[in-house]
Amino acid sequence: MFTKNEIIEILSDNSKNEWLFGLSDSIRKDNVGDGVHLRALIEFSNYCKNNCLYCGLRCLNKNVKRYRMPKSEIIETAKKAVDAGYKTIVLQSGEDIKYKINELCEIVSEIKKYNVAVTLSIGEYSFDEYKMLKDAGADRFLLRIETSNKLLYEKMHPNMSFEKRIECLKNLSELNFEVGSGCIVGLPFQTIESLASDILFFKEINADMIGIGPLIIHNNTPLSDYQNGDFILALKVMAITRILMPKINIPATTAMETLLKNGQEMALKAGANVLMVNVTDQIYSDNYSIYPNKIKSNSNIIEQKALIEQKLKSIGRFNSNDFGFRAR
Ligand code: SAM
Ligand code: SF4
Repeated sequence: MFTKNEIIEILSDNSKNEWLFGLSDSIRKDNVGDGVHLRALIEFSNYCKNNCLYCGLRCLNKNVKRYRMPKSEIIETAKKAVDAGYKTIVLQSGEDIKYKINELCEIVSEIKKYNVAVTLSIGEYSFDEYKMLKDAGADRFLLRIETSNKLLYEKMHPNMSFEKRIECLKNLSELNFEVGSGCIVGLPFQTIESLASDILFFKEINADMIGIGPLIIHNNTPLSDYQNGDFILALKVMAITRILMPKINIPATTAMETLLKNGQEMALKAGANVLMVNVTDQIYSDNYSIYPNKIKSNSNIIEQKALIEQKLKSIGRFNSNDFGFRAR
């Protein structure tokens, strides 16, 4: 629908934002409806072998109290979320080499017994390892490209390879996972042209889900002297993605709410149709400090869900109450 030059023009000019958000909202409504898919997020380990320049969980950050939830607790937390009515469990962690693939497969297959969709967000693995996870029952996998610019990617991710990232995304598609990707808006040295390429990249790989969030600066990272990403720019990248990919799932990301109160509501009104709800016990999630001031709930899992449903109702939306696969 838009050429790269048109995307650059829209991203560079804030005078037409109202038109843009109106269009992305109506495309969302026509293609995926008013239902919002709620996903229960379990942050099960904050150990990570990588050193992404922006992330507070990077291995070289020694100021993090590291934790690894025992297998039984992960499964118990998932059960609680299922009992509260969630239809998708998202298991997220740093790239924690202590978890062997067999153990991860066991966790997935145990959780699958609860008749729920399982999404993994655990980083890069080989084709065979991804296959084992798929065979264990995992339905979806989130792996953001973070930026589609190879040079910038490699600057932000020491000792990681852009080609390997692309290969992982390709392998996940080949294995019939629903594949989620996405980018961070506001990385140092990122240009508007590079954000336009990110959007076209999402389309090219035919992603099933796209998560877009502004960069939030973490003080114990090499990016501590840089600035947070621009909320409106992130919202615009998300809105254009919705226009180009009408049927995919797009979360109103936690990073948006962290940067701006009501940021998730604004995202839901500009093309988003998914909310990730953190159901991790606070003794753990307080230390899952990818960035500061991450939103948290003080209610129990049932009250938390009721509050979200109430909020959705107030903006004319509702909990879709289904597995929330990509609309076809
Ligand atoms: N380790 C896995 C991975 O990188 O795919 C999953 C967990 S990682 C914490 C999930 C996402 O958090 C990353 O894809 C990245 O985009 C995002 N993230 C990390 N640090 C961030 C920051 N400072 N600001 C915004 N997003 C951030
Ligand atoms: Fe590790 Fe993911 Fe953070 Fe990178 S973004 S340091 S892979 S947890």
